[in-house]
Amino acid sequence: MSTTALYPGSFDPVTFGHLDIIARAAHIFDTLILAVGSHHTKTSLLPLDQRLLLLETEVAALNITNVRFITFDGLVVDAARNQGAGVIVRGLRNTTDFDYEAQMAAMNAALAAEVETVFMSASPKTGFIASSLVKQIARMGGDVSGFVPPATAQKIFEIIKK
Ligand code: ADP
Repeated sequence: MSTTALYPGSFDPVTFGHLDIIARAAHIFDTLILAVGSHHTKTSLLPLDQRLLLLETEVAALNITNVRFITFDGLVVDAARNQGAGVIVRGLRNTTDFDYEAQMAAMNAALAAEVETVFMSASPKTGFIASSLVKQIARMGGDVSGFVPPATAQKIFEIIKK
């Protein structure tokens, strides 16, 4: 039996933390679907197409062959069902993530009992990275090259300069 997992996120922007989870999850599951959520908030930096493009670019550099990419609008459990994914992957950095993610997993289980949420602990080297802080640092002119790969850092720089 092959297992398809869906890793949803905003990826605004993709960080070394996301890429760590992606590489590790791709080892565990037969197929990993990277699902970029379309919801755009006031604090969003990158439009959906840019977030997807950067994610595709950075994941291509990892030489992983069992990943696919989608964008989705609406419920994560609906995206999982539509893709035939029985697992939702989420990363946990700290207890704040845990509190939020555990509640979300329970709500998703109530909505779709057949879809299981699997948590992966962040790696020590990347577990402090958050897209929201990357955005703040970049907007204040800081160097984000320790948190995101070069192509993503360059794109963020171009968007902020405009
Ligand atoms: P969302 O808006 O869905 O939280 P994010 O792109 O911020 O989207 O995060 C997607 C997932 O990746 C979440 O499960 C989040 O906890 C996880 N994640 C984010 N940053 C890291 C990191 N540095 N290490 C491990 N997991 C992370």
